[in-house]
Amino acid sequence: MAVQVFQNAACNWRCWYCYVDFALLSANLKHSAFVSAAQLVEWYLQLPERPVVIDLSGGQPDLVPEWIPWMMDALAERGLSEKTFLWSDDNLSTDYFWRFLSEQQRNRIASYGNYARVCCFKGFDAESFSFNTKAEPDLFNKQFELFGRLLSAGLDLYAYVTLTGPSLLNIREKVGRFCDELQQIHPNLPLRTIPLEIRSFTPLRNRLPSINADAEKVQKAAIEAWTVEIERRFSSDVRLIGICDVQLS
Ligand code: SF4
Repeated sequence: MAVQVFQNAACNWRCWYCYVDFALLSANLKHSAFVSAAQLVEWYLQLPERPVVIDLSGGQPDLVPEWIPWMMDALAERGLSEKTFLWSDDNLSTDYFWRFLSEQQRNRIASYGNYARVCCFKGFDAESFSFNTKAEPDLFNKQFELFGRLLSAGLDLYAYVTLTGPSLLNIREKVGRFCDELQQIHPNLPLRTIPLEIRSFTPLRNRLPSINADAEKVQKAAIEAWTVEIERRFSSDVRLIGICDVQLS
């Protein structure tokens, strides 16, 4: 599917597998610019073949939580809110949605018909989370809390998980516990969760070639474990339901 991607050129994490060059994650004005939501929509309108989806990506878009309601307003002003689907990414690291948006802005996001957010779980346990992001292991659990809060706020949510880590030890049990945690939020959440395959694109190879090889072995084993868990927890009929038809409410 063709989409128009706009990137917030900043991220608070540095995942070893990030497809974005780290120079583009540091809010460096050599590689980025301050641009209004109205300007982004104007550029989008000028595309000769406009995709129907705009993805607000990053970096971490939620470092600027106002970006989403501002884009909604800008799309509505140009008569595009019914014609364009707005999608945003979230690395599940910040609570800025509650700290910096007004209740009115939060309600605007929750009630906007053509919007969904995908939240990315980084790893399947605290150790793999820290290995992937270089962040504190304790923040692994914070991801579940933030996802649950966003779901309670009424957002239409999807999830990614990156199943890379440093060790093959007890991988079946660890992935099983990760699925348990997802199902604590909602029993159907694993069916709205996509394991994102990490592939060896150029920025990765230049960064940490030796770790990549090991992490790829873990990823393969973890994806096999994930598949077993999904088949064990959901009947074949349920697994056939389209991801956007899986109910989380
Ligand atoms: S959270 Fe996303 S954008 Fe940030 S470093 Fe990790 S993969 Fe890259």
